Amino acid sequence: MEWISDATGVRRVVSRARARQLTIGLVPTMGALHAGHAALLSALRPQVDVLVLSVFVNPTQFGPGEDFDTYPRDLAADAAWAEAARVDVVFHPDASVMYPVPPQTFVEVQGLDRRLEGAVRPTHFRGVATVVSKLLNLWTPDAVAFGQKDAQQVVLVRRLLQEMLWPTRLVVVPTVREPDGLAQSSRNAYLSPAERAAAPVLHRALSDLEQAVRGGARDARRLSAELARAIQGEPLAQLDYAVVVDADTLEPVPIMAGRVLVAVAARFGATRLLDNCCLNISGADVQAVMP
Ligand code: AMP
Repeated sequence: MEWISDATGVRRVVSRARARQLTIGLVPTMGALHAGHAALLSALRPQVDVLVLSVFVNPTQFGPGEDFDTYPRDLAADAAWAEAARVDVVFHPDASVMYPVPPQTFVEVQGLDRRLEGAVRPTHFRGVATVVSKLLNLWTPDAVAFGQKDAQQVVLVRRLLQEMLWPTRLVVVPTVREPDGLAQSSRNAYLSPAERAAAPVLHRALSDLEQAVRGGARDARRLSAELARAIQGEPLAQLDYAVVVDADTLEPVPIMAGRVLVAVAARFGATRLLDNCCLNISGADVQAVMP
């Protein structure tokens, strides 16, 4: 496994791969790897020749007062995950490589970046779109993998690829969960024991909604109100949103039909957690799908 930290190293690996007609797959992460990240690596491993893991805690996607300084960093553990997943290259740049001068150039996916998470974190997706663009420019990957857990990120990256004419294939990987249903997240490490015990309410409430839809419920407003009530029933959960939206536009929908994303965000103490389910509904047929 090779470690690379600057643009020259990237260009060396990319030209070597291209000369041998090898395909490149990229998994962008902020490190503190867990089984969710490993699932992205395993999904891409058989699809590409050169598997690249990037580990970069991207400052521009954190707002003022957010957890950039305290975000968990554990490069030794990340290296072990990477070895186990048969990663070929770990890209671990300093901020000065990704942002060589104080940034004046940003990429925005307007509209999508202000919905759901964007309403609470107004500059978050500008930071995401900018760093993903830089990674795509550097690595020119054939495929890139993102997790369903951050469904809005998936929707936004899909749009970014389409509009910026990148031919990169987007691979979306289902959310990996703890045995009690909690979505794996680097931020779960922040939870107190009581908050950790309360957090599975998000997945439980989403599963109940999915069951109701499978049972024939189609009124999205009523379903999202029930979803919100279920989460608010947990005293340690502070609900930010519980919404039913179109899976491409992220605009609220009145009835459950077509591809809909059911997304929730709640705070447990100082820790914000996200979860979602995505359903494709056609008449009586209800399928769980990727965003
Ligand atoms: P992060 O390091 O948190 O920025 O996440 C890097 C990538 O891993 C993103 O595409 C996430 O959506 C994905 N990811 C994080 N947690 C999970 C999970 N529990 N299951 C699947 N993918 C995940």
